[in-house]
Order: sequence, then C-alpha cells, then structure tokens
Amino acid sequence: MSKPYADREVWFFTGSQDLYGEETLRQVAEQSQEVARALDASDDVPVRVVWKPVLKDSGAIRRAMLDANSDDKVLGVITWMHTFSPAKMWIAGMDALRKPLLHLHTQANVELPWADIDFDFMNLNQAAHGDREYGYVLARLGVARTTVVGHVSNPAVTRRVGTWVRGAAGWAATHELKLARFGDNMRNVAVTEGDKTEAELRFGVSVNTWGVNELVAAVDAVADSDVDALVAEYEDLYDVVDELRKGGDRHHSLRYAARQELALEAFLGRLGAKAFTTNFEDLGALRQLPGIAVQRLMAKGYGFGAEGDWKTAVLVRAAKVMGAGLPGGASLMEDYTYDLTPGSELILGAHMLEICPTLTTSKPRVEIHPLGIGGKEDPVRMVFDADEVSGAVVVSLADMRDRFRLTANVVDVVPPPHDLPNLPVARAVWKPRPDFTTSAEAWLTAGGAHHTVLSTGVGVEAFEVFAQIAGTELLVIDESTTRRGFADQVRWNQVYYRLAQGL
Ligand code: MN
Repeated sequence: MSKPYADREVWFFTGSQDLYGEETLRQVAEQSQEVARALDASDDVPVRVVWKPVLKDSGAIRRAMLDANSDDKVLGVITWMHTFSPAKMWIAGMDALRKPLLHLHTQANVELPWADIDFDFMNLNQAAHGDREYGYVLARLGVARTTVVGHVSNPAVTRRVGTWVRGAAGWAATHELKLARFGDNMRNVAVTEGDKTEAELRFGVSVNTWGVNELVAAVDAVADSDVDALVAEYEDLYDVVDELRKGGDRHHSLRYAARQELALEAFLGRLGAKAFTTNFEDLGALRQLPGIAVQRLMAKGYGFGAEGDWKTAVLVRAAKVMGAGLPGGASLMEDYTYDLTPGSELILGAHMLEICPTLTTSKPRVEIHPLGIGGKEDPVRMVFDADEVSGAVVVSLADMRDRFRLTANVVDVVPPPHDLPNLPVARAVWKPRPDFTTSAEAWLTAGGAHHTVLSTGVGVEAFEVFAQIAGTELLVIDESTTRRGFADQVRWNQVYYRLAQGL
C-alpha cells in the first residue's frame, strides 16, 4: 500500500559491539534488516523504514544521530540492541539526537528453540538485557522517547510503531508550520492568548499577523472565471439550497464565499502557510465572515482557529498531518451546549460556522443564514452531522504562563438523538469518557480551553507522542480518570514541569 508519509523516512539503528566476531555480527545485520523490513512492509507503519548499518562504537553512533538530525526527510529514529551494546557508547549520540526516538525492545525470534538452544544462540539474542543496559542510559540522560515492546509480527507492536510515526510527523509538521493570522484575537478573551515566541521554540511554529485589508485585496483580485468554476464545484459536490444556486436570488453570496476561498488559498499559498486564523470582530471590508471557505480549507489540510485562536489552529494542523490516510478527520471544535438528562448527558459541539467536513461521510448542505454578531452580510456555510466514532479525542492547548498545557478528552461521537432542523451550523454530538461529570470537572480543573481540535482520525495516543517529543504537559481524561486522581495529577504536574525546566 502507499505510505501516507511516502516522502519521509524513519531510520532503523541496531546496536552491537565488536566483541562477538564476524559471524555473529553478520547475523545481527541480517536479522535486524528483517525487523526493519517487517516494519517497512506493515500497513500500520505510515512511512518508509530504512535500515542502517549496525552500530558498534561511540563515534559511529554520534555520527549516525547527527546525520539523522540534519536530514529533513527523517521523521525520527528507531533503535534496538539486538546484542549487548555497552551503553556508554550511546551517550554522545543520544545526547546529540534532536529527532523523535523510538526504543524498540524486540528480538529476532518469537519462540525460544527450547530443544536446540545453545550458547551461540544466547550470544546472538541478548536484547532482553542489551536493551535494559541501553534503557538505563536513556533514562539517565533523560532522553524523551517512546518504548515499544514485542515481536514485529505482533500487530499490537506495529500499530504502536505506526502511532509513534504519526506523532513524530505531527511534531515535524508544527516545525515546518507558518501560521497566518488575519487580525488579532477576539477582544477580552483569555484562553486564546499565548506566548508566540515560546510556541516557536516549543513547537517550531511561526505565528504572524497580516492586516485584513491585505486579504480584502486578494478577494477583490480573484478572477470571475475562477469563481464560476468553484461555484460549479460547490453545486456538484454539495446539496446547495436553491436560493444560493445559479439563478437563485442569493447566488451572489455563494459567489462571494467562493471568492473568499480562492483568495485565502492563494494568499496562504504565497506565504507557504498551512494554518490561519480569522476574527469576526476584525473583518475590515470583507462582506461575510468566511464560512464554507474555512471549512473547505480545513478539509484540504489547513489548520484553523476562530477568533484569532492560533494555538488551536496549530493543533488542527498537527491533527490533520497525524491522521493522514486514516478514516475520519479533524476540525476546530467548541464545546457549545449540553443535554443534561441524568445518565445520558451529551455535549453538542459546533462553532459559528467553521467545522471541517472531514468529520462526515454524508453530503453537506450549503446554506445561508444570518449571523447574530459581527454586523456583516449573512455567511454561507456547510451544515452536517459528524459521523459516529468511538474513541475520538478533543484536545486543547492553553498557555499556563510558564509552559503550555495540552488537555485531552477521549470521547465517543454519537448520532444526534433527534433531528436538528433549526440549527444552521455543522455539529458533532459526543459522550465524553469516563462520564460527563468527571470529564467536565477534570477539564475545568485543568483549565482546558473552550476551543479544541476534535480528531476522529488519530486518537489520543498520537497526541501523547507529540506531547512527549515536544516536552509539553498533556493531561488526559479517559476511561481511567477519577476526579481525585486527576486533581492530584494537576497538582503534581505543577511541581514537575517547573522543576523540569530548571533555571
Ligand atoms: Mn469560538
């Protein structure tokens, strides 16, 4: 199958030493190539896995890690100590490594050859203690890593390796990310603020603002023929209401929305930006708040945050990249309102307009309705229900003064229990885990934001990898969360993350 990150690589390194002699080292090389090949061949692993020659001394290890650092196509490195590899040899290299690390604790064989095992076999197959020696040095150096245990023929192992690759791809994506803000944040909102300089250090993202009038000029510059073509595409792909269709009395509004999409995409393309924000309070001479334009750009992989929320736009972009090739999608989301029926509480998530249609496999309707705030013309938007998905995740990013905090809740997206004929926006309805009260109480305790990314593609595990690589706090609310345990975790994390920053 084709790999979603086909233009990227993960390098597979095997540790050994010179003591064993040529024959053993030849077997180490052969067997480690088989392990790398098995990972590369697995549909669970979304990137090319490239075997590298066996490492046997400190200089070669350091050089290998520096090479991985400097090669932009390398998403991360996998290491495995097939034999014993005295780990002082790994100190310089692992201290220098700046790419995501997966420690694969595996061995060549599944079963022990009980009847035939001799000391040659023992000499070759020593990962059980070779990886322990290596793990000690990683722990002592404090190297952030994901550790995966088991034979590569076990799907649970390849799935975890694949999830690590996705987290590493998210980390790479935020480091390559330019984010364009049109205008500033919604006035007086607290949680959408944040330290953009710290974000560039922590996540690599470059966040900068453009005057809305530059976007207005781009909208005016779009050719009518391009608008004709895009409007025809809308009418072909979606159920467009009659008043917006060609010949309808509000068709001009659909044309203006298409003009906004073309202008935004061209503007972002010129900047090389893969994420952006808007703010309904700061639209300059734009006639509508961009709705369908933003929805379709999210579907094309752009990160987006409303009301100037650049932090959520970063998360949406990361989720898009981490979920590449998987069913489901990712969108800006906002916890909007509740059904508090005891025992069957539900969260209705939506936004003013901007929910990504990758959350649905149904055909969106394209409608036009007034927007109660902002004082602009009625905006065009896609309306749909998000698909039912078990084990989706909502994630927020908040600036806690001395650090960023990711808060995640594992949720089950469910069909709305009733039709919503009067709700003029796309929406998702979900049950949070472990239950509504614990989830909401934990979220409020953590200070999680009202804006999130809802990911129905990748789950919480990829965000755990992303957070670990980025050295960023992640509080997870899932089926194992308790009110008391979560409150303790928040308290302990305050201490840990302050100490971990040193001076
Ligand atoms: Mn909002």
